[in-house]
Amino acid sequence: MKMIDITAPVYEGMPVYKNKPEKQPNFNSQTNGHVTESRLEIDAHTGTHIDAPLHMVNDGDTFESISLESLVGDAKVFDLTEVEDGITKQDLEGLDIEENDFVLFKTKNSFEDEFNFEFIYVKEDAANYLVEKKIRGVGIDSLGIERSQPEHPTHKALFGAGIIVIEGLRLKEVEPKSYHMVAAPMKLLGTDAAPARVLLFENK
Ligand SMILES: [Zn+2]
Repeated sequence: MKMIDITAPVYEGMPVYKNKPEKQPNFNSQTNGHVTESRLEIDAHTGTHIDAPLHMVNDGDTFESISLESLVGDAKVFDLTEVEDGITKQDLEGLDIEENDFVLFKTKNSFEDEFNFEFIYVKEDAANYLVEKKIRGVGIDSLGIERSQPEHPTHKALFGAGIIVIEGLRLKEVEPKSYHMVAAPMKLLGTDAAPARVLLFENK
């Protein structure tokens, strides 16, 4: 069974949201004799990660509210590489999106290695459409599922409907079709997000 790793590598100097220096990971390696140990300092939203409702909703549910069962199963990759600016409802209407689907959006973002302040994101009307469709989760290849929407309506609509949000995927080499997905986040308790390893397997 062919496996495709769609996780961004995590390293010092990696692309981080808005290039903010405080979002850079620090590995703080210490060597004592022959023993080396690193103390990782990383933002919960580093590289490929999964958001919890707490991220955008005060008193929202923390990371452990997302069950591992909901992160393992079929996922559909859609080609939205022609989209400019942001994904709209119109971009999604023609796609085969059904109830309980986990959808992954491949956009121009997957072809860029630096943080782009004008990254492709999911616009409010597209988020509302995904809520109407009752999907299980949505993943995108940008470090944020939205930008330039002051009250964060995309995050709020998705979290309000219990839809899981994965950000920071790398889909450049991924053919748009259905896969079996294993999204395995760190088992963090009480946080607003967790870094994850996300793998796709070719469906027979
Ligand atoms: Zn995030």
